[in-house]
Amino acid sequence: MSNRTVEKIIHGQATSDGAGVQLVRMIGQPQLMELDPFLLLDAFRSDNPDDYIAGFPAHPHRGFETVTYLLNGRMKHRDNAGNEGVIEPGGIQWMTAGRGIVHSEMPEQQDGMLAGFQLWINLPASHKMTAPAYQEHSAGEIPLERRDGTEIRVISGTTSGGTSGPVSQPLTEPLYLDVLLAPGAVFEEPLSAQHSAFIQVIDGVISMSSSDQSPLRLARDQLAVLSKGEKVVVQNEGQESRFLLVAARPLNESIARAGPFVMNTEAELRQAFSDYQRGEF
Ligand code: FE
Repeated sequence: MSNRTVEKIIHGQATSDGAGVQLVRMIGQPQLMELDPFLLLDAFRSDNPDDYIAGFPAHPHRGFETVTYLLNGRMKHRDNAGNEGVIEPGGIQWMTAGRGIVHSEMPEQQDGMLAGFQLWINLPASHKMTAPAYQEHSAGEIPLERRDGTEIRVISGTTSGGTSGPVSQPLTEPLYLDVLLAPGAVFEEPLSAQHSAFIQVIDGVISMSSSDQSPLRLARDQLAVLSKGEKVVVQNEGQESRFLLVAARPLNESIARAGPFVMNTEAELRQAFSDYQRGEF
């Protein structure tokens, strides 16, 4: 089996979005504009309300999916179709924006820690205008697989241990795992060889092989773009560590993106802006 190696380490770019939320952009910035089918990954973690309290007031999306995974805090969402809910710690919201949705994402707290990730996953041309849909699951609905020194929260996809996550998306076949490694533990997992994959370190230090097979250390808040290959091997380098392992099938289609719209052509982007301005979302 060919092991995946680290192709590139991304440090992320501090930025502000929404009405002034401080976050670190890992994917969707000059170091890594996209990792087909992943369009954007934002990490947020702060216990200073000034960094998050303004939230993300009403804004549109079209043409892709937004995946919000909350580690700490509570986030309330509400859309123009009357859907609303609160994402709690350990909960996932997998929103297929499809042809269009207008929603707000606001912290449901005045203080304390707010931490998590928002990932954007592209939709193929055939499904960009699909009806909006949600897959929303609380922490208790996300299965936990235990191995020797390893705890794996399976949000989407099926592990080699046979654990399946509650979220399914046959268009890109995403695997979304939250992995906790005890000191000295090793995590090994086969992946679909041609799928794009990355690791985002949440806590601790891990090591993986670089392309020349020498060990490469990855620290908290770093993202590793992985080479293609059949297997991932991650070793813990010290204290308990935690990371996301995310993989999905690339779409290999043209991308035309502007802010909250991601289409295949410039004409479709103009259509998205005009549909939104005419209130047709
Ligand atoms: Fe949004």
